[in-house]
Parts: sequence; C-alpha cells; structure tokens
Amino acid sequence: MLDRSIAALAGHRRIESLIVALPSEEMSRVAARDRVRVVAGGARRQDSVANAFEAVPADADVVVIHDAARPFVSAGTVDRAIDAAAEFGAAIAAMPARDTVKLAAEDAAAPRIDRTIPRDRVWLAQTPQAFRRAVLADAIACGRAGASGTDEAALAEQAGHEVRLVLGDPTNIKITTPEDLAAASLAAAAHPVAVARTGLGYDSHRMIEGRPLVLGGITIPHATGLAGHSDADALAHAITDAVLGAASLGDIGRHFPDTDMRWKDADSIELLRHAVGLVQRAGFRIVNVDAVVVAERPKLAPHVDAIRDRLAAALDVTREAVSVKGKTNEGMGEAGRGEGLFVHAVATIVPRAGA
Ligand code: MG
Repeated sequence: MLDRSIAALAGHRRIESLIVALPSEEMSRVAARDRVRVVAGGARRQDSVANAFEAVPADADVVVIHDAARPFVSAGTVDRAIDAAAEFGAAIAAMPARDTVKLAAEDAAAPRIDRTIPRDRVWLAQTPQAFRRAVLADAIACGRAGASGTDEAALAEQAGHEVRLVLGDPTNIKITTPEDLAAASLAAAAHPVAVARTGLGYDSHRMIEGRPLVLGGITIPHATGLAGHSDADALAHAITDAVLGAASLGDIGRHFPDTDMRWKDADSIELLRHAVGLVQRAGFRIVNVDAVVVAERPKLAPHVDAIRDRLAAALDVTREAVSVKGKTNEGMGEAGRGEGLFVHAVATIVPRAGA
C-alpha cells in the first residue's frame, strides 16, 4: 500500500520531492532514493505532518499531503489540488455525498436522528490536501498552539484560511479495515501497479585495423576498431536493443534498417536517442541500464565515466542510472584473441505517471 502511494506521488510530474513520515521502527521499510526522504512520524497525524514539514525544501511553493492509505490517487486529482492551492492558498480533494446525511443526536446509546443535513452541501474529505507553504505553516502553528484536527484542512480552517474543495476520485479510497481491502483488490485491478519491465540487448562487431573504436559515443584510442556500418558502436547498439526490447518495440534493425537513407552515417547515439523517444511516447521512462563489454583490449575503465555521461544524456537519465563494465574473456575465443568485441545490456523501464 505504501509503495503504491509513494509511486503515485513520486512519479507525478509536478512533485519535485517526497517526504515519507513513518513510525520510527518502520522507517527502514522505505529505501532512501532520489527525491524521497523518510522522517519519523509523531503520535497524531498532525504531529507527523509537522515533522515532515520541517524537511520540506525551502523553495517548495505548494506542499501536498497525502494518506499512505490511499494508494489509488490519480494524477488528475493531485493536479486539481495543486492548481487550486496555488490559486487560493489551500484545497483538498473531496467527493460530494451521494447518500442522504443524517446527524445523530448526541446520545450515542440510542441512535436517533437529530436532523437531516442538506446533502448538496456535504463533501467527504479525501487526500491530497494541498497548501501554499505559508498557509500550511499557519495551520501547523495553530495545531502547535493547541488546535487539533483529523486532517490538515481542519487546522487551516481554524487558522482562518479558506480551503477550497476540488473533485476527488471515487476510487481514491482509504484502506483502514479488512473490508476496505476487499474493495481495494477491485480498485487494484483497475489501477495496475507500475510494473517494471526489463529488456535485453546484445551486439557483436569484428575488430579490425583502420577503424575507430567507438563505444557509447566515445572514441577510444586503440590499434583496432569496430567493423560495420557508420560508427559500429556496439555498446550503443546493444543498449538501443535493450531499451526497445523492454517496451516490446522490436529491435534496431526494424527501426533503423541499413536501407533507410535517413539513418545512413547516423551517429549511433542519435539512433539510441530516437529509440528512447519511441519508448517514452509509448508511455514509459527508463529507470536504469547496465552493460558488459567483453573485449580483451583496450581497458575500458579510464573511459567509463565519459561513456556513462554520453549514454545518460541520450537515455534521458542521470549518470547514476547508467552502468558500463569492461570484461576480458581470459584469452579465450574470438574476444580473447582480439578478433571481436561483444556487448550484453539490460534496460529497466516503468510506465510514466499519468501516461
Ligand atoms: Mg551493431
């Protein structure tokens, strides 16, 4: 549930960083990662939010608070809350009541209706609840001064701020009881989790004299180079196939046939960039790439960081998401005799949020 909720927010294009407030004994459940921080929660919801607020980056304009128990929040609901908070200061996702609402008399021992509340004015609060930074600071200060509320909007109201209602989502349910889990399994079927997909790529080229040795877009000084069309960049080719394969989009030969003049003499990094664009338009983003270059010589290590940077730019990821390793073949076979160079690559992709 927590992983789904984190993925829903961390994957949203307008969320720049995420702070997860958890009971201290549970904090190790969430792996530290790019743009995700974990802080200790507090005794009450409002204490957890106050702790998390301390970790909000100073340049954040709007802060969005979300229940981890609502894993099915849609990107559109997050957008509506952010837009209204940016314009009006505070906004929460909520659903108009569909059932007639009865207010019970205070004597809980004998439930009876005190009165009927006009249904058209009743909204059931969900999260996200979004606030301009200063408004949330006021709400938290109000809580510290003794106010309490079961949501952040209640504190903002008590601090004197107007809070807008934006339409939530009927499937944005809060999972709090075993019965909710049954409903959640239905909702989960309608909201497939962002399953990672893996692609495998392989390429080989003969090594001959009189050709440059280009790997990952970087020319490496060496007595022999790679035979083949254009730059014969076997590393870029294997990664291109891995990326296309992860999205089941075919292979390099299908997208860049030798007969297509468009790609004649094209830099292999350009082909990779084009393949990445195809994968992105199919609704995915690349998570990471790992590759092994099997060659007896030259040593790859001095060039690896330059190669990673070049590949990362084409893959639309950071250098940390790209791994390239050199490996000899212990003198065995074609690679061992320096007749050829072989590359194995894997790529992991996930659906883009909102795609
Ligand atoms: Mg090739």
